[in-house]
Amino acid sequence: MRQTKHHTGKDTLRWAAVCAGDAAARDRFVFAVATTGIYCRPGCPARRPLRANVRFFADPAAARDAGYRACRRCHPDRAGGAATSAAAVAGALGSTHPSAI
Ligand SMILES: [Zn+2]
Repeated sequence: MRQTKHHTGKDTLRWAAVCAGDAAARDRFVFAVATTGIYCRPGCPARRPLRANVRFFADPAAARDAGYRACRRCHPDRAGGAATSAAAVAGALGSTHPSAI
């Protein structure tokens, strides 16, 4: 019989947020997958890892310090993604003006 430390509490709540795709948790922490060496934000569209392989970090810098790389799908190293996409939409609208004749 193996003795395991019980981390019921913060990590359990974080894992529940990952499973639920909780958008409110996106800026609160990141999770890393030991088997792939990649870290993600909660709500990442990539396949959900096994709970046993998941490590939690308070922010992307902490995950990088531990040797993990940012996921290419959810870009956990980027902040304020909503503002840049709004600017991109505004730029696209301005460029669709039809030329007369
Ligand atoms: Zn991801």
